[in-house]
Amino acid sequence: MAAPVIHWFRRDLRLTDNLALDAAARTGAPVIPVFIFDPAILRGRYFGVPRLAWLIKTLAALDARLRRQGARLLIRQGSPRRVLAELAAQTGAAAVYLNRDYTPYALRRDEDIKRMLNIPVYVFDDGLLHPPGAVLKPDQTPFAVFTPFKKKWLTLNKTLPVGQPGDCFIPAGGLSLPFDDLPTLAALGFDGNFKTPEAGEEAAQRRLYDFLARRIHNYQTGRDRLASDPDDDTRGGWSFLSPYFRFGLISPRQVYWAAREAYREAGTPEARRSVEQYIGELIWREFYAHILHFHPHALDGNFRPEYDVLQWRDEPNDLQAWTEGRTGYPVVDAAMRQLQHMGWMPNRARMIAASFLTKDLLINWQAGERFFMQWLIDGDPAQNNGGWQWTAGTGTDAQPYFRVFNPVSQSQKFDPDGAYIRRWLPELRGVPLPFIHAPWTMDSPPRDYPPPIADHAFARERALAAFGAARQNQGDAS
Ligand SMILES: Cc1cc2nc3c(=O)[nH]c(=O)nc-3n(C[C@H](O)[C@H](O)[C@H](O)COP(=O)(O)OP(=O)(O)OC[C@H]3O[C@@H](n4cnc5c(N)ncnc54)[C@H](O)[C@@H]3O)c2cc1C
Repeated sequence: MAAPVIHWFRRDLRLTDNLALDAAARTGAPVIPVFIFDPAILRGRYFGVPRLAWLIKTLAALDARLRRQGARLLIRQGSPRRVLAELAAQTGAAAVYLNRDYTPYALRRDEDIKRMLNIPVYVFDDGLLHPPGAVLKPDQTPFAVFTPFKKKWLTLNKTLPVGQPGDCFIPAGGLSLPFDDLPTLAALGFDGNFKTPEAGEEAAQRRLYDFLARRIHNYQTGRDRLASDPDDDTRGGWSFLSPYFRFGLISPRQVYWAAREAYREAGTPEARRSVEQYIGELIWREFYAHILHFHPHALDGNFRPEYDVLQWRDEPNDLQAWTEGRTGYPVVDAAMRQLQHMGWMPNRARMIAASFLTKDLLINWQAGERFFMQWLIDGDPAQNNGGWQWTAGTGTDAQPYFRVFNPVSQSQKFDPDGAYIRRWLPELRGVPLPFIHAPWTMDSPPRDYPPPIADHAFARERALAAFGAARQNQGDAS
């Protein structure tokens, strides 16, 4: 019998349209599917317990899927370098197959493993439609600004998904290996009880097709409406695919080509613009992955170094009020409570909460970035860092420092009937609509809800002055 090959699952937890897994299966040799809990990640600065809970559920779904084919997911804990070397020795594996993870830690780890293993390691670009290095300026350097990146990205040829959903077959070997049970949160040393969405690649497919059938053609306006379906917080004008993208339960190729089909079927200019916008968001995802790849310093500080001198406020009480959803600004507080209830928020809520921290409270975006990573089930270093730096104005945009969201007008515009606020802030349920966005303007505001911790008009001027001073400083220095 042919020597088996190992498929190392990381952020590609699906059988459908998985390029490395497909290549491993095509060798005809038995495939050993393995997932490794890496202590360096579990102890790392980007770790979050709700996301681990979501990962465990996702692995259980992947294992169930593999079992239907007579295979099983091998679970191991420890340094991937050691685990893979042992596994290769135990099984006589001929090669390792994996899909590239573009974060700085993962790239270093994979290079190290390639050097250390004495069998070939085949690496595939699967998690993005165009990997870093494939979208370049005419002078062959990477883009640092979104719009030209997007224009170039759109011109590039895109590959089709391999196979149809559900038709991937993994040759299983009659290998007698010890199969460890999938660990629980407690077994990995964490606790908590998190309600996570339905896991598995079939669930991801259902999400996608539900979105395509009902909402993609209204995405342009629907994506910003904060209130979701009262019976299901995951359903709004957005696709809710980010938790599924996070661990690769669905491929970006499939989502892109499905959106192209929705474009063909769009009956109105507005519907077409909505699909274009949706594809634009998929491109943001690729853009931030490229940015982090080419500018890893962004993980440790401002993408634009001129803001390194910015005088952030060091106010632990304000930071705490923000994390607890007790700033006195209902839309900000609703967002922060949703985050800690669901491990997820719609994009508009993320922008409002992030703008409040960085502009109204003038607290360093890195504190918010860390907090989001602790809670988001879709928390991704590249996306989260990109979103925070965009909102703070320290990122790739040219002139973003004047972008200061007014939390009251944002609330009026994107939660016009106050349904989002009432959903997440039970103490404001009885507040009449004219006051729901600014309850401190009532004659007798609810006693169990705090007054605003910052005056927006004052805080806006303070933020503009601080950002202006940092820019001035830079101008003086250059
Ligand atoms: C401060 C801040 C932090 C963020 N942190 C993360 C994070 O850790 N992980 C993460 O996946 N996204 C992050 N985002 C981006 C965005 O908010 C989420 O991707 C989006 O809300 C996910 O919901 P959805 O899948 O329904 O998105 P949809 O609106 O349905 O969009 C489809 C897909 O496009 C991509 N996308 C959408 N909006 C953005 C965006 N603004 N930037 C990059 N990609 C986007 C996502 O992959 C998303 O799943 C952050 C945004 C901000 C402002």
